[in-house]
Amino acid sequence: MAQARDGGICRVKLTFGQLTSDQARGIADASEQFGNGIIDVTNRANVQIRGVQPHNEDALIDSLLGLGLGPLTDKGDDVRNVMISPFAGADKTRVDIRPLATSILRELQTSPIYQTLSPKFCIFVDGGENIAMVTHPHDVWLSPINPGDLASDYAFGIAGVPPVDTSDLSTLGMVSANQTFKLVTAILDLFIEWNRDHPEASRLRHMLADIGKEKFVDLIKQKLAISLQAARVREWRRTSPKENGHLGIVRTPNLEHCTVGAMPSLGRLNPDMLRNLASIADRYSSAALQLTPWQSILFSGVANEHATAACDALRVLGLSTSSLEPLATMISCSGAAGCKSALASTQLDGIRLAALLAGKADIPQIHLTGCSKSCASPLAKPVTLVATSAGHYDIFLHATNGPSRFGKLLASNRTIEESADLIGAKFGSGGPLHA
Ligand code: SF4
Repeated sequence: MAQARDGGICRVKLTFGQLTSDQARGIADASEQFGNGIIDVTNRANVQIRGVQPHNEDALIDSLLGLGLGPLTDKGDDVRNVMISPFAGADKTRVDIRPLATSILRELQTSPIYQTLSPKFCIFVDGGENIAMVTHPHDVWLSPINPGDLASDYAFGIAGVPPVDTSDLSTLGMVSANQTFKLVTAILDLFIEWNRDHPEASRLRHMLADIGKEKFVDLIKQKLAISLQAARVREWRRTSPKENGHLGIVRTPNLEHCTVGAMPSLGRLNPDMLRNLASIADRYSSAALQLTPWQSILFSGVANEHATAACDALRVLGLSTSSLEPLATMISCSGAAGCKSALASTQLDGIRLAALLAGKADIPQIHLTGCSKSCASPLAKPVTLVATSAGHYDIFLHATNGPSRFGKLLASNRTIEESADLIGAKFGSGGPLHA
């Protein structure tokens, strides 16, 4: 439970973003009864119930535990931070990392020593899927070198992401599939040992900065008593995932079922929307919703002949199913309504900006942030609006080498209308929207 301007925020950590439709209804009821009715999908595929008053905290937690949303052990909640692709295991011809990810998640929750890790400490078990979020930095990541080989070896690294571009940092080494679990626990054990002498540190990037990559690799080698074959994977790169592949109808050749995905505006739901999504899951899918790190929702196992109807039902609810809609990719922090540090109402401004850009093709992803802390995204997005005062923003375009963490400054202190004109003129298939 974290405190915010609009009350407590209760983060509900979901196992790999999965919710049954009954759990979704339960969250909708709990949000209405114990919160202010705002439910956010987070960029770690969890949900947040906002506006919880102190006298409702215990009842809310009891109701969530009653829905089966608690951790495996009393002290295992904070550390259950294992991410996989929402499409993991969907393609039977490729490696399925779900059993490994489940084992790691169980170990984190049940081992008292791992319960001491920071609540931000996170692990990415990649399966090399065609649709995956591979840009969120993780403390530890694993990725199959050849996802089409069911017995593939795994590349791994720390304090980063699987490399996709030639300029990305290379991997630390590789291990066989049956060594992956041991590798992860060895890394955790090493970090915890080092952490005893560095109690102020909380993440593997701190350890890496302290001892360096070579020493870290040596320590792992000693612990596992195996060669990590770093030279063999130095040039290895993960296949780049499909951009916005989580939106709309996602078909798999030769399968009678497909996946349908949609984005609630700025990743935010209200109780009625969530109940309606649960009904869509009951009607078209397997009574389950899959939340994603894009802050969107997926329904898998939809019969191909029902895909269009499911998509239409999502659109009726106000969700976006096409990346051509600005709101399908736009993200924002809670802004002034939920955060004392916010200089603007980012959520309302984002909706207004999207309306002004509607119908423009080729608008890239836009991120509105109420201050430079950038809670909604750890990374610079193609376009970032950083609030300067109510209704005014500095506009940045992504650039690899700065100068700002958000990229290059396009314009300072612009209104939403001016921002729409500038963004529309820069990227949209047409001229400025306003004279
Ligand atoms: S980015 Fe700034 S304004 Fe937005 S939620 Fe975080 S601290 Fe608050």
